[in-house]
Amino acid sequence: MGRIVRVGLTGGIGSGKSAVADVWRKRGATIIDADVLAREAVAPGSRGLREVALRWPAVIAADGTLDRPALARIVFDNAAERAVLNGIVHPRVRALAQAREAEVPDGTIVVQVVPLLFESEYARTCDATVAVVAPDASRIERVMRRDSIDRESVLQRMRAQIDPAEARRRATYVIENDADLATLHDRASAVYDALALDRSL
Ligand code: ATP
Repeated sequence: MGRIVRVGLTGGIGSGKSAVADVWRKRGATIIDADVLAREAVAPGSRGLREVALRWPAVIAADGTLDRPALARIVFDNAAERAVLNGIVHPRVRALAQAREAEVPDGTIVVQVVPLLFESEYARTCDATVAVVAPDASRIERVMRRDSIDRESVLQRMRAQIDPAEARRRATYVIENDADLATLHDRASAVYDALALDRSL
């Protein structure tokens, strides 16, 4: 076994991805979260942030950091602006993810947490993919509580993501998150066993 295993972990907003990733981290996986890397890509002092500042000077706050809500308002309903932003952020996220992967020892299970996994080409580069699927009603409730936002804002974010039925169809493994957290942990652990077994084949 002279290589790493790359697992793509996905699921809609509030589906339980982070909870699954936490279980796998404890089991020894290296977790690389695309959302975290996307923030790093435009961190203070980064080239990404300079490019954003050149394109949209108004989204840089007085202290030189990114005004995220202002940028979100610009790209939210404008596909062309969103494509420009993705063109700045995505290559950096990929480079950062590659750099992390390069550091892990052979045989490690590396989990890339990517909310839009099946909407991108990235899924094809994974050895296995896992979708976490939860009932809409519980997702809405949990995200409203976690992020202190209203129902309509959650629905808006859900609509921008892949239909869970599609993710369910395409994933190598599906984790149903339709019970309590202890059950989710057990199911996550069982899928980890399967991934570890795949690795040794
Ligand atoms: P996002 O994409 O929005 O970051 P996520 O898919 O990573 O979401 P989590 O953060 O894991 O989702 O879960 C959302 C919230 O719901 C968290 O506060 C988590 O603790 C809680 N949660 C997840 N699954 C359950 C469950 N089965 N029972 C109770 N609470 C849960």
